[in-house]
Amino acid sequence: MSFDAHRCPNGHVTYPGHTRCPECGEEQTETVDLADRTGTVVTWTTSTATPPGVREPNHLAIVEFEVQGESVRALGQLTTADGVEIGDDVEPVYEEELRDPEAGIREPDSQAWDGYRFEPV
Ligand SMILES: [Zn+2]
Repeated sequence: MSFDAHRCPNGHVTYPGHTRCPECGEEQTETVDLADRTGTVVTWTTSTATPPGVREPNHLAIVEFEVQGESVRALGQLTTADGVEIGDDVEPVYEEELRDPEAGIREPDSQAWDGYRFEPV
């Protein structure tokens, strides 16, 4: 699995990808795997009212990565909120199940449950 941001020929990077680059309208032709990079916490919050199958409390962060002079932001879960502050460095860590596939989904096999959480460095 990879944690792919998408890049257009002009170097703009987005996560997730778009059919056309929101910045310049070109087609996004490249992917950049963010999984091995370190990002910075822009902001984070804890949600205590979560949908079925989502952990509670759920710690969510907006994390910014630098990709060759361009910054790209991704929203995702934090592994922990303990001691996390804005500006801290985090690394993506792979998780097999970001949510519980058994909770309230009619066809669990129809979806991917794995992905990345952000771990404080
Ligand atoms: Zn662009």
